[in-house]
Amino acid sequence: MTSLPTYEDVAAAAARIQGHAHRTPVMTSRTLDEELGAQVFLKCENLQRMGAFKFRGAFNALSRFDAAQRRAGVVAFSSGNHAQAIALAARLLGIPATIVMPHDAPAAKVQATLGYGGQVVRYDRYTEDREQIGRDLAQRHGLTLIPPYDHADVLAGQGTAARELFEEVGPLDALFVPLGGGGLLSGTALATRALSPGCELYGVEPEAGNDGQQSLSEGRIVHIDTPQTIADGAQTQHLGHLTFAIIRRDVQAILTASDAELVDCMGFLATRMKLIVEPTGCLGLAAARQRAGQLRGRRVGIVLSGGNVDLQRFCSLLAH
Ligand SMILES: *Cc1c(COP(=O)(O)O)cnc(C)c1O
Repeated sequence: MTSLPTYEDVAAAAARIQGHAHRTPVMTSRTLDEELGAQVFLKCENLQRMGAFKFRGAFNALSRFDAAQRRAGVVAFSSGNHAQAIALAARLLGIPATIVMPHDAPAAKVQATLGYGGQVVRYDRYTEDREQIGRDLAQRHGLTLIPPYDHADVLAGQGTAARELFEEVGPLDALFVPLGGGGLLSGTALATRALSPGCELYGVEPEAGNDGQQSLSEGRIVHIDTPQTIADGAQTQHLGHLTFAIIRRDVQAILTASDAELVDCMGFLATRMKLIVEPTGCLGLAAARQRAGQLRGRRVGIVLSGGNVDLQRFCSLLAH
């Protein structure tokens, strides 16, 4: 097996994104501290450029393109935050970007991607394979394909959020991180091992799609059908090879949270902290709240991974 990325890659990524990505704030709440009996630090990636941590990995990966790759351009397939992250990072670096999205992708997401200067190629999600389309485009036009999580530069970039958190607040006893394909969690693991080695690290996925939890217990990458959940950023069907190898080495456990718990956290963050966080972004907080009794007296970090949810949807989720 090829060697896994290390903390050195996270540190190099931090230098590359400096001045381009926001150094997002770490927020605290007395109410939350009292509820958990702990000292809680929220890393606010909902306030990152384009609204999620994914800008970090995208910018890091594109920064490493050579001249020929820059001229030819990048291709990505995604209907979510990765698409917008690649489109924005590419525009900032002067690289042409092609994003493969399903015909039924939400109009707001397509508009956002076009707004960042990306070229959108549509496909039919029921009859066509987006990975195949991405690979064909890459081959025909010499584009470089950047996947959403299973890529060394992408996951190293995602690890810079935790690096900033430890730099700002020092070592922690526990850290809770949303989990989809594992780019954020594996990058966070590299930073945690280096900067706060005693910290327990937890990945949190939607209850409806616990493929990561199954993968850790079976010791292999388990594939599932696309889970039905409001956490659309974590509707992945399986972990990646790189991300799984790091997660199984460095992560304490994978926990789950229900849609109802996510909505409850969205309401709490909006009312008490004036933060708009998308359902997926609440996974870490939801799991920490489940474990209130066990976190007493401890220093706890939580990554709020993104804030891209349109206002209509936000309101209708909270109204139910
Ligand atoms: C992509 C995404 C995740 C999951 O990240 P992975 O690297 O796929 O595990 C979590 N939260 C938000 C907001 C995301 O956009």
